[in-house]
Amino acid sequence: MKLLINVFLILLIFGVLTVVSQIGGLVFLLAIPIYRLIDRKTNGMWRRAVFKFFSFAMLYLMFVFIVVPLVARQFGRVPLPILETNYLKPATIWTVLLNRNYVKPQLKEIAYKVSIKLNATYPGAKVNYLEANFPFVDGFPLLPHLSHNDGKKLDLSFQYNSSITNKISYGVPSFTGYGVCEEPLANEQDMPGYCREKGFWQYNALRVLIPQDNKAKFTFDKGRTRTLVDLFAEHESIGKIFIEPHLQHRLGLTSSKIRFHGCHAVRHDDHLHVQLK
Ligand SMILES: [Zn+2]
Repeated sequence: MKLLINVFLILLIFGVLTVVSQIGGLVFLLAIPIYRLIDRKTNGMWRRAVFKFFSFAMLYLMFVFIVVPLVARQFGRVPLPILETNYLKPATIWTVLLNRNYVKPQLKEIAYKVSIKLNATYPGAKVNYLEANFPFVDGFPLLPHLSHNDGKKLDLSFQYNSSITNKISYGVPSFTGYGVCEEPLANEQDMPGYCREKGFWQYNALRVLIPQDNKAKFTFDKGRTRTLVDLFAEHESIGKIFIEPHLQHRLGLTSSKIRFHGCHAVRHDDHLHVQLK
């Protein structure tokens, strides 16, 4: 019975870590001999738990920062920068720690070019990237995103100012980067309302789940966000861009690459999605 429970727990932890970070489950399995050694050499349940946690964490970080980037490159995906590079940075470090920052080299190059041009147009501006793809295997889902499974997809934050200083803000209103929305105004097309009425509960799920406390500290910058979208759209190899219809209209975006993503996806008035052809 104890063996069965142990196997179940190992499978559960493996499954969760794999879904969340792709390689976390594998690292957990690789660390099992270390856990056995700790069990043999250490007394006390808490002491053992602490040693096991830190040994896993060290091995995991070694994979995230050294092993995975080297191996992923051989399979045609590269990580977006951990620290700000060419005015491009992760909105949250968790995107990097969970290996959700991998793209095809071409998309990384475009993201850099766009960030550099945005900064040249609006001195001081930077681009916050959100979730991209996992490092390995076409078709491996990056949950909860429907299509981020081939190295060709990238989410980005909108451009914000601090509502306190009125200067460019380098942060984002949501701790995940998602779920704090530029809602449709009374005279604008309301696709979130339409999809809700049609029964697509997931369309607005993040808006409901994510705390909105920081929203008042940020103001949406129309000009910089419009330029950000246009700079991606002007690249030949960008195939589609997703942004909520009311924002497309509000920003005056005219690129034919901008599409409505459908009610089966999630709302895109909290972030921007770009993808390669
Ligand atoms: Zn996306």
